Amino acid sequence: RERALIARRERLLGPAYRLFYANPVHVVRGEGVWLYDPDGNAYLDVYNNVACVGHCHPRVVAALSRQAAVLNTHTRYITDGILDYAERLLATFPAGLAPGAGHAMFTCTGSEANDLAYRIACAHTGGTGFVVTRLAYHGVTSVLAGMSPSLGPQQPLLPNVRTVPAPDLYRAGGADVGESFAAQVRAAVADLAAQGIRPAALLVDTIFSSDGVLSDPPGFLRPAVAAIREAGGLFIADEVQPGFGRTGEGMWGFARHGLVPDIVTMGKPMGNGHPVAGLVARSDLLRGFGERTRYFNTFGGNPVSCAVGMAVLDVIEEEGLIGNARVVGEMMRAGLRELAARHALIGDVRGAGLFVGMELVTDRATRAPATAATARLVNALRARRVLISAAGPHANILKIRPPLVFGREHATLFLTAMDEALGEVAA
Ligand code: PMP
Repeated sequence: RERALIARRERLLGPAYRLFYANPVHVVRGEGVWLYDPDGNAYLDVYNNVACVGHCHPRVVAALSRQAAVLNTHTRYITDGILDYAERLLATFPAGLAPGAGHAMFTCTGSEANDLAYRIACAHTGGTGFVVTRLAYHGVTSVLAGMSPSLGPQQPLLPNVRTVPAPDLYRAGGADVGESFAAQVRAAVADLAAQGIRPAALLVDTIFSSDGVLSDPPGFLRPAVAAIREAGGLFIADEVQPGFGRTGEGMWGFARHGLVPDIVTMGKPMGNGHPVAGLVARSDLLRGFGERTRYFNTFGGNPVSCAVGMAVLDVIEEEGLIGNARVVGEMMRAGLRELAARHALIGDVRGAGLFVGMELVTDRATRAPATAATARLVNALRARRVLISAAGPHANILKIRPPLVFGREHATLFLTAMDEALGEVAA
């Protein structure tokens, strides 16, 4: 049956839409941390950060249906929802971006948010140079594909983009990763300058998801941010992955670094599956942008999207999901470190809150990446109905990102499945 579906998918959607599992999953329903196939089998979803407050959360579904029954239209009219939501969203930001200092703009996807940030940064600085990490992913537009080296060598980078290795405490052997990251950023800026290109921004995902979930030590981003600002560029935090409480330390991933970005872009978890995205930027940056150009996004910030976004924030707050991410995330990391005593494949366990990274190696001394074993492990977990993905330069780092309603009981299920799957892969 699945083979027939895959064939139909290829016939209708073409070869450019990749399927990520060797053994793909056909899902027809979601609830909380679970996804269901047509036979009613339940799969534990630790795969992605979109279902932030859990699949089909009743509060979010109700907010969506309620608003859809009253009004949904483009954003040329004045509606209350966009203002209420902007106010609520801005209130989650620290001084410097909070109401009065920052503004919110809405889009439908994280890509559009990053694309808009790109335009704002160029307009404000007069530069065009961007520094991104070596395996970054920032979106689907032509500009962002040219700034997303994780798409591989077939996708050429833009001439105004430089890449720097993401700071990696596990492989940097205890060196001061913050200072060495800053040095790389300075070198990238100098390289741009040699081509006559002024820097517009350093754009990073603050948990470095596609680079391999590089989270430690907290604060390591500060020297690099100081370096880009010294050179006249901005710091854009791409919070599409870590945002909305996932890191367990406040609403935003950048909070762990004790800094305030110039622009923050967001998406995925913001609408819990409904397309809601946007950015928050310092007011003065938008003044110049507004003078030079105009921005209109037909669906960005429409009444239904804003009602959904508001419900997501309500649930995060009322269900204490940031605290849950912190506590259950810590339990997951402790559990995985315990498994490391029995499973030599586990080289490193890291992350923040419910964004856990686990790096697999064939040899702990040399840290040689266990790429093939990681692919087998993903499928061994899939056979146990646990959905997960891998990332990093050698695809040997598991990205563990369940919905934030993931409880202790789910963590126990996950750790048991992981223990069995690791045993199977090593055998
Ligand atoms: N930035 C990051 C860090 C992402 O992970 C993604 C999506 N994977 C995007 C931007 C783009 O978001 P979207 O797919 O909603 O356009």
